[in-house]
Amino acid sequence: MRKFDGDTLLVATHNKGKLEEIADLLSPYGISVTSAGELGLDEPEETETTFVGNARIKAHTAAKATGLPALADDSGIEVQALDNAPGVYTADWAETPNGRDFTMAMTRVWAELEAKNAPFPRKARFCCTFVLAWPDGHDEVFVGHAPGQIVWPMRGDQGHGYDPIFLPDGYDVTFGEMDRFEKNRISHRGKAFEKLVTAFDR
Ligand code: IMP
Repeated sequence: MRKFDGDTLLVATHNKGKLEEIADLLSPYGISVTSAGELGLDEPEETETTFVGNARIKAHTAAKATGLPALADDSGIEVQALDNAPGVYTADWAETPNGRDFTMAMTRVWAELEAKNAPFPRKARFCCTFVLAWPDGHDEVFVGHAPGQIVWPMRGDQGHGYDPIFLPDGYDVTFGEMDRFEKNRISHRGKAFEKLVTAFDR
């Protein structure tokens, strides 16, 4: 595995929340971050049908444009009985003309499960893929999953996105009811991050 030995990493995102989350995770390793948004880079279109494909587009576009190693992530939820939908379209299911509406997206997940009369437990998993790309075209890929099931009604007001309908395996609280630190320990992003740090030459 190629190691990252620099002290500033370019995070290929225009999302401020994601940048702050990644900056928090990286700071104990003495790595500071700058972002594609801050550098005014164009946001590439996510045209692939896999998490790794879309994370690769974001990471390589940013690395080539700047000559710096770049980190990108792509994430979402796969619901087994819905043929793994919404998958890479997880954010798209929440889009409305007035911004994202996750209550609408979660209602659609449950409605589609009901329409199919899907058996219980209604298995699902959150997925996160990090891609670390270098300007010469090399990359390293790190994947994390959080297995669980979809429950209804929505529970909890912590977290974001689809957290209120996701009950992780081995717990009786949803991601929406779990505090941020507990969730980070077992989440797809936390698991992918544990693998990413093995690429830091420290
Ligand atoms: P992207 O990675 O920015 O393309 O967005 C993926 C989408 O997946 C987000 O908009 C969220 O809706 C959803 N998602 C990813 N991770 C989580 C999570 O930990 N909890 C809830 N929703 C998530």
